[in-house]
Amino acid sequence: MLVEAESFANRGGWKLDTQFIHEMGSPYLLAHGLGRPVADATTTVEVATAGRYRVWVRTKDWVARWQAPGTPGRFQLLVNDKPLSETFGTTGAEWHWQAGGEVELNAGSNRLTLHDLTGFDGRCDAIAFTRSEQSPPNDSAVLPSWRRSALGLPAEPETKGPYDLVVVGGGYSGMGAAISGARMGLKVALIQNRSVLGGNGSSEVRVWAMGLIRRGKYPRIGEIIEEFCDHAKKSPGTYEEFGDAKKEAVVRAEPNIDLFLNTHAFGVEKAVVGNRIEAVTCLDTRTSREFRFTGRFFCDATGHATIGH
Ligand SMILES: Cc1cc2nc3c(=O)[nH]c(=O)nc-3n(C[C@H](O)[C@H](O)[C@H](O)COP(=O)(O)OP(=O)(O)OC[C@H]3O[C@@H](n4cnc5c(N)ncnc54)[C@H](O)[C@@H]3O)c2cc1C
Repeated sequence: MLVEAESFANRGGWKLDTQFIHEMGSPYLLAHGLGRPVADATTTVEVATAGRYRVWVRTKDWVARWQAPGTPGRFQLLVNDKPLSETFGTTGAEWHWQAGGEVELNAGSNRLTLHDLTGFDGRCDAIAFTRSEQSPPNDSAVLPSWRRSALGLPAEPETKGPYDLVVVGGGYSGMGAAISGARMGLKVALIQNRSVLGGNGSSEVRVWAMGLIRRGKYPRIGEIIEEFCDHAKKSPGTYEEFGDAKKEAVVRAEPNIDLFLNTHAFGVEKAVVGNRIEAVTCLDTRTSREFRFTGRFFCDATGHATIGH
């Protein structure tokens, strides 16, 4: 049985980190507490057959690559409120399945808790319970299909579209492109890998919008951004000043936009002839379910040139 950390029902103070999906194949939970242990993440899993299971936690000691001591990212796993004796985040410079010994699981509901010990960036990608002594695969060529089959996900992504315009990245530029396209009559998919819109200008990052608008030859430039941008009094501003709900409401008011939050684009499909993009492939960062979005035009507003490059 595989439990992705990002699927935990209650993440407590753990944050969903989507930055390294292209390197490790999955988002993960991060205990970023600036030295103060973050609140527990909890979830309940259903088990068909009671019995003893081996426990594996996909994690790493994030300072080991520099041979630095101290294992700052330590955390515990509690099963039905009892901590396992192994402390996680304490071995290996690379992501791997750290062995957690054996545990008794009940038939029916079992409660899992991630308990941060340090507040210094403990990382948990997934938890596996196995009957065999063999670790789940670490090989990146095998792990994605193992994950899909363990989660009961389809082998092929579900297709969405076709759209006239597929915008990847829901920061200010992606929101502007999507709204502008939609108002000109295009059917638009707006794909954003966070649960909120705004990117740097969201409550998650809080960089204020102080760009110049209505410039020279472009007297109307910036007007769409004005509809949803923050008016923070300083940078970084407060959570409330960034109005996540308002941003989402402005986008959802556009009948021509389909908004896909918590959706991370990780690949492109190109035409057989030429260098044209025909689809982007994405995964739902909470469920790992994959989708492909087809379209005529694609806009890379990721801030990283992930799609265009
Ligand atoms: C420290 C700092 C200070 C700044 N100060 C100012 C300032 O004072 N005034 C000012 O006007 N500007 C400032 N800026 C610049 C401004 O914040 C940026 O120009 C602006 O936010 C860029 O918007 P964007 O939409 O292009 O990118 P972002 O805001 O980065 O948005 C990109 C979005 O795409 C999402 N994304 C990324 N990859 C994927 C993917 N593969 N799939 C799906 N979604 C994805 C990201 O999660 C993000 O939400 C500052 C920037 C920084 C970093």
